Amino acid sequence: MFLNFNIFFLFNIFSIISFFLCLLFFSSKQHFFYSIYLGFLGIFFPLIYYIFCLKKTILLLIVIFLILFTGIIGWIISIKIDISRVPELITLMHSFIGLSAISIGYNNIFLYKVINNKIYLMEIFLSNFIGSFTFIGSIISYFKLINKDIFSIFFIGKKIFYLNIFLLFINLFLFLSINNIKYLIFIYLLTFLFSNFLGLNILSSLDSSDIPIIISMLNAYSGLSSVISGFILNNNLLIIIGSLVSSSGFILSKKMCLSMNKSIFQIIFGKIFFKNLYYNTYIIKKKINKLSCIDVKEKIISFKNIIIVPGYGMALSQSQKLISCLMRKLLNKYSINIEFIIHPVAGRLPGHMNLLLAEANIQYKYIYSLDSIDDNFMKNKLVLVIGANDIINPEAISNKNCILYGMPVIKVWKSNFVIIFKRSMNLYNSGFSKVNNSIFYKKNVGVLFGDAKLNLQNLLDLI
Ligand code: NAP
Repeated sequence: MFLNFNIFFLFNIFSIISFFLCLLFFSSKQHFFYSIYLGFLGIFFPLIYYIFCLKKTILLLIVIFLILFTGIIGWIISIKIDISRVPELITLMHSFIGLSAISIGYNNIFLYKVINNKIYLMEIFLSNFIGSFTFIGSIISYFKLINKDIFSIFFIGKKIFYLNIFLLFINLFLFLSINNIKYLIFIYLLTFLFSNFLGLNILSSLDSSDIPIIISMLNAYSGLSSVISGFILNNNLLIIIGSLVSSSGFILSKKMCLSMNKSIFQIIFGKIFFKNLYYNTYIIKKKINKLSCIDVKEKIISFKNIIIVPGYGMALSQSQKLISCLMRKLLNKYSINIEFIIHPVAGRLPGHMNLLLAEANIQYKYIYSLDSIDDNFMKNKLVLVIGANDIINPEAISNKNCILYGMPVIKVWKSNFVIIFKRSMNLYNSGFSKVNNSIFYKKNVGVLFGDAKLNLQNLLDLI
């Protein structure tokens, strides 16, 4: 044998291959579902590996109990959770990865005397810094996602930012030069506080419209904290898997920045070095073209080609399966073709709409991404907007004071007629970014008020 193979080595290799394949399948439009099982296998192999590694003492029993206990809690949460709350759940999960990096760093301070290596101390410091940043960033994003922007008061500005960075450098210097465990712990706690404050200062300055990119950036930071934990624990598997997570998170963030016309530096450093835009929450009082289900039915059957633009309201109302029924009925009964356009930040999670449409068995060949269409795509077609708002906001193109300005939107108004499904015109129900949306007052736009699922059911009965 050229290599000294043993069972643990094999388990590591299986796990790494499973994670690679998991990512590979995840990027495949047809087979992404397999990635769930592969990801599970990727976690299962190392778990077995570490259970084998531990000495057969009471500690092993505690570890097995904790794995089972937390596994059952996770299982119950994932079964019980309303699908529309998944983005919040994922954001909170990132905060746990940050917390685990902080605690791994803390625990390993006690080993320093044994290892006596400055690079090791540096890894512990970084684990605390990045873990804290991930932790506080996830908490801020969670509150932004549930529309409670309680942290915006912490955006204090450049001077505090520089002071914080200065204090963190002093902490790093002291951390690397002190040998006493008690002082090391004290500085570790100070670093935890300063890093959290830096995270508060940077992330609370970002607009709600940046949240999709922040979430994928937090994914990258959580991967990075796992990499550093891997270095501290001398665990190659953690380093490789953390690198996969962080690099895919950074690539996704960069792609989302490109599609939303944002700067990645603004996401990393917040508004510290950028001009602040203000919200245009003025209310326009113009007449809205209200439609009934019968009006909508008549409009629908007068077209041969229809485009559906799904948004967060589709996820909230869980109407994707009814959309799929409508699609089949219109094709079979009236030979009407339906196609979909998905905006990269529609919903509350990258790929949110793709996931829901796949769940409703809508094939990928009917789905277009924003960058694969031009303005002519809409010509002579009817557009049904199911619970979308920000992603079709014309102010993102025409109003420089709008926080959405610069973000490419789906120009649904270029079509022949647009029907928007939404519940009310209350400003605070307007859209995630809470900015005014002038689409509702355009001549070729009508609104069907009410819950999208109920309205789609009524439409299906009528058609
Ligand atoms: P949106 O701007 O949040 O608009 C959702 C629309 O759905 C609203 O008009 C709402 O109006 C309507 N709605 C809600 N419940 C409904 C129901 N039961 N029936 C019918 N309509 C309903 O959603 P979006 O256009 O998809 O835009 C996404 C926004 O979320 C962007 O601003 C994006 O930046 C942000 N975001 C995205 C991500 C991501 O990764 N994709 C993550 C975080 C944040 P009513 O309440 O009046 O019904």
